[in-house]
Amino acid sequence: MNQHFASCKAWVRSSWHRFLVNQTALLTALLLIGVFGVGGLLANSAAHENREFRMLLQHQVAAGLREQADALGKTLSDYAVWNEFKDSVSRTHPDYRWLSQNLTPSIYTNLDVDIALLLDPAERKVVYAIKFGQVLADPSHALPLSDEDWRWIDAAMRAPHQKARFSALALRETLGKHDRSPRLYFTAIQPVESEQGEIPPQHAKLLLFARDLDAPLLHSLSTSYLIRDPQVLFAPETNPARMSQPVTDHDGRPVAWLSWDFTPPGDALLIRLLPGAIILCLSLIGVGALLNRQARRLQRAEGELSRLSYHDHATGLPNRHKLRQHLDTVTAASHPGACVLLTLANLAQVAETYGPRVSERLITGLAARLDGEILAGEMVARLGEARFALWLQSNSDTERAARLTRLQHHLLQPLTIDELTLHPRFQIGVSLFPDDGGDAETLLQQAGSAMQQAARQGRQAWVRFNSGLSEARRQQGQLQMALRHALDLGQLRLNYQPFVDLGSGRIIGMEALLRWSHPQHGDVPPGVFIPLAEEDDALINSLGAWVLDEACAQIALWRRRYAPALFIAVNVSVRQMETPGFHHIVAAALKRHHLPADAIELELTENIAADSAPELEFNLSSLQRMGVSLAIDDFGTGYASFSYLRRFPAVRLKIDRQFFDGVPEDPQSSNLVKMIVALGHAMGAQVIGEGVERAEQVAFLKQIGGDIAQGYFFSKPLPPRALEALLAEAPYMVP
Ligand code: C2E
Ligand code: MG
Ligand code: MG
Repeated sequence: MNQHFASCKAWVRSSWHRFLVNQTALLTALLLIGVFGVGGLLANSAAHENREFRMLLQHQVAAGLREQADALGKTLSDYAVWNEFKDSVSRTHPDYRWLSQNLTPSIYTNLDVDIALLLDPAERKVVYAIKFGQVLADPSHALPLSDEDWRWIDAAMRAPHQKARFSALALRETLGKHDRSPRLYFTAIQPVESEQGEIPPQHAKLLLFARDLDAPLLHSLSTSYLIRDPQVLFAPETNPARMSQPVTDHDGRPVAWLSWDFTPPGDALLIRLLPGAIILCLSLIGVGALLNRQARRLQRAEGELSRLSYHDHATGLPNRHKLRQHLDTVTAASHPGACVLLTLANLAQVAETYGPRVSERLITGLAARLDGEILAGEMVARLGEARFALWLQSNSDTERAARLTRLQHHLLQPLTIDELTLHPRFQIGVSLFPDDGGDAETLLQQAGSAMQQAARQGRQAWVRFNSGLSEARRQQGQLQMALRHALDLGQLRLNYQPFVDLGSGRIIGMEALLRWSHPQHGDVPPGVFIPLAEEDDALINSLGAWVLDEACAQIALWRRRYAPALFIAVNVSVRQMETPGFHHIVAAALKRHHLPADAIELELTENIAADSAPELEFNLSSLQRMGVSLAIDDFGTGYASFSYLRRFPAVRLKIDRQFFDGVPEDPQSSNLVKMIVALGHAMGAQVIGEGVERAEQVAFLKQIGGDIAQGYFFSKPLPPRALEALLAEAPYMVP
């Protein structure tokens, strides 16, 4: 149950992670939309609120102003429609005393009537005026009534539907000499009439009340409608942030504007909501960032995981899986190219000699070198400890061959690590797409066969796959397997081929040549099984050690029995020579058979000159110190430079038998042999002619100063007993 729950949890978590990684962009977009959406919504609703509020406020302020005017009109009515008032003013000589007693100062102090005027429309003059509670001596100065005002007053009084009641009149007044600022008055005007509702006569006196739109009135407006800084303007308001309401005259023309500031409620709402909204947005952004970070971390983890599963840890190069993927892609896309497999042949020796740190740096150095060789669309991968693979694109055979040769040359350059100069050695196999295989698997397999072929050939050159390789390789694999047991099964033995001193005609030594008698295959030539043994360091080393011991045992016996100066030449593979401590094996064999160092001679092919691995150099110098002499075998077939050979401490130089083919008939071959003899002598070495089969060849060699001869002419390589017979019966062999 618990397990089920745990697996459910893991599933949910992994699904969530997948969702996070896949949907981060979506989530981020949603969050942003959310943040901007909330902001937009707020701003939008604030703007809407502001619009509504402005309309409402406008309406309210207009109503407020009307209310003020109406209130003034009402106050006016109270006085104008009053019998006593009518009586006191309708007389030919109005009772101004009565008026003063009843109007001042109460209409000013209690009813906010700033100016009260009694008008005689017939005369078009102000007959009585009270301003700010004071009766004015000159009533005409109380308010400046223009001709237009008088015309309007006339018209209004004549219109019966007006019933003597009318709306407010807005008047501008410029006060006194000192106060130049114009002022705005609400005014109300009405004929003085009886309380009985009689229609007043045409020229009835008129009562006018005016109220200054002054500071107290503005203040009361501002407190009633929550407006700020109300001002009276005599031109339209230009500041869009402020609101204004026109105050119109009797014709509906604006004479002034009441302007005010206000706090739009939407803004106030925004301001109120803003902290909350900001917190919300920040939280959303925070959540977004958190999700984003988690997703990025997951992506990084995924990236790291993919890096680990598709890349080699030590070099950072793609690994086998990644290469497979790449090969699958390029083969599917039918890009022609070459699959190159290469093995660093001397990695194990480097690790053994200098330790793992140096070998690791050798690998990373080579990885960098290989990485520098590839172009866009190509790949270099590390497939194993010492194995790399490349996919190179190529269109033509010549271009490919040139690139591979360049690559190989570059790879063979020495690498300096901690003041050590290391010489990498490679086996390189190449298979081509589409010629050698149509898929990743086949291409890698074929490149592998070609690489093994390169290893068998011991050549520092790349080998291209050919279809015959596979079957041959299978058989060789079987043979190699059999060779591992050949020693234990007693299938190996040594044959000996004598060296004849051309001066004395005597046998001065013999070369030990390994023979393998396979129960089914019969005698397997060393040219076949030695390269197989060399593919496996352990195998060649164990065979080599056996040969050395066997040869030492033999020469010890023959030295005792026939001649104490006899020496035995043992062929040594380059692989053995590169094995750290090889000189100890030689020393141990000599010691075991109580032999001096001059009893043996080690034959090395001149290709050894191309190899300057430090362990090889060390073995060579150690052997030289021990007094073991070295001979260069198959001279003329390899590619050692003369300058190197001069440094190589060889006491003998063996001219390869192929040079004797045309000797002495062919002058060119004869000349070549002559030159080699001279060269050997120049190096201070004795010269051995290998593979001499005919008497003329022996005579020629002797004539040109050759020192020693070996070949079928004297004897084939023989089993010990047969050679013993030779030693006993025919010590003088030179004709
Ligand atoms: P190598 O060291 O150059 O040996 C000389 C080869 O020439 C021998 O072939 C020998 O039989 C052959 N030979 C000698 N005289 C004549 C001749 O007059 N005519 C012809 N046609 N051939 C002649 P073999 O025994 O087949 O050995 C082949 C190679 O195998 C050797 O060449 C040597 O490189 C290698 N080998 C043999 N034994 C050993 C061994 O114990 N260890 C190692 N590492 N290599 C060995
Ligand atoms: Mg030899
Ligand atoms: Mg030879």
